[in-house]
Amino acid sequence: MKKIIFLLLISIGNILAQEQTCGSQLRLKKFLKSNPEFLEIRNTLDNNIIDFENIKSSNITIPVVVHIVYNNQIENISDNQIFSQIDVLNEDFSRTNNDANNTPLSFLPIVSDMQINFCLAQQNPDGNPTNGIVRKQTNLQSFPLYGDEIHYDTSGGSTAWDTKKYLNIWVCNIDTGILGWAQFPAGGNPATDGVVIDYEKFGTTGTVSHPYDLGRTTTHEVGHWLNLWHIWGDNTCGDDFVNDTPEQEEANYGCKIHPHPSCNNNGDMFMNFMDYTNDACMNSFTQGQKNRVWSAITNYRYELLNSQACNSPINLSSDAGIISILEPNNTNLVCADAIYAKVILKNYGNNILNSVTIKYNINSSSEQTFYWNGYLNPGNTDTIILPVLSSIGNNHILNVRTTLPNGSLDVNPSNNQKSKIFSSFNGKSINIKIRTDNYGNENSWTLTNIDNNYIIDSMNILSNNTTYNLDFCLDYGCYMFVINDSY
Ligand SMILES: [Zn+2]
Repeated sequence: MKKIIFLLLISIGNILAQEQTCGSQLRLKKFLKSNPEFLEIRNTLDNNIIDFENIKSSNITIPVVVHIVYNNQIENISDNQIFSQIDVLNEDFSRTNNDANNTPLSFLPIVSDMQINFCLAQQNPDGNPTNGIVRKQTNLQSFPLYGDEIHYDTSGGSTAWDTKKYLNIWVCNIDTGILGWAQFPAGGNPATDGVVIDYEKFGTTGTVSHPYDLGRTTTHEVGHWLNLWHIWGDNTCGDDFVNDTPEQEEANYGCKIHPHPSCNNNGDMFMNFMDYTNDACMNSFTQGQKNRVWSAITNYRYELLNSQACNSPINLSSDAGIISILEPNNTNLVCADAIYAKVILKNYGNNILNSVTIKYNINSSSEQTFYWNGYLNPGNTDTIILPVLSSIGNNHILNVRTTLPNGSLDVNPSNNQKSKIFSSFNGKSINIKIRTDNYGNENSWTLTNIDNNYIIDSMNILSNNTTYNLDFCLDYGCYMFVINDSY
């Protein structure tokens, strides 16, 4: 008696396992019923299949954003679990999966590398850096197949990133019986475009549970997202609109042994990712499926081809420049032998500027370098006096430019540089310091050149106990500086 009960339980277990299904076709049917205007575009996509050989853009890395929508910390799966799923996608869509050698010989002529790669997005829709993972806590215990709650922040889910430029994958607790679902091209509202996977069927580690523990639920759903049908066409001996896949009677579950014929074929291709077999028993896409997927990319998901989201964003944190040269200027003529350029540095970037290298020169002389260090908030400026420059002649052009803001590449060189034309005296700068005593009014001075021609004198009466800093710019020659004390 005990034995019988045990067998009965096993048999119930098997039935439950077989109820685990993919919801993509069910959702598509529901959507087309209430939006029949999409039938035409769907038909076009199903029938307008280009051979891969005739497809021009045949390199693609699809940027992925993974939305982890969790009700408890168990569902808040680890980054490593997410990475393991991206790895599986890359392997399965390039036929570098370890179990590719399990494909029966008779199918080897038709199986194919899909030539599709995936990356976790490196920039978000605003162009800012990201790891491609969004984590949202939700009050909802689980998400139903026919609901769209998962797709919106406002309903306990996570709002999609631009579905034309990203593959959005939502990972959450889906109501029992559904492994996941995908939206076919033109098969639903663009805001819900992407795939939804139960957190116990995503990746190959962490919360995954046998027999859906090798990431193939996501491979299968991404196949739908790229316009692949179930291999049995969701009908008895139905059509999956792919020429090379054998017609097959119905979905296969568990693991089958080849050949497993139906519908007069020589064996179902139950190891195709678009069947329902266990993760460990599927390993292939076909050339016909590749044509179909690439046709969907070319005809519908073509914006993915130009998406920059797999590249690190242009780092706006690294943008500094010179906005103005205050000195030299032609109202304060400077002595050519010692020119101190006074410039305004601006932080154009989004982050605090702590360092920048300033290169400067006069005319076409070799550049001098000044290393600025400081603390400049975004949008703020600092006035800097650069180390001395010298130059001969009257008319010059001063060039000042910045480079390496915060030690990194300046991504916007257009605001780096300023130039200024100025005149200077030919000569040498001379500085004389005079200190008066208690009787400053008894002192005076004069400066004359070698021919005794007057240049300048003390003019006003000098104050007591005062230091005078006298700056002259004198052409090369001999001069006489005379200081008098009348008492
Ligand atoms: Zn499916």
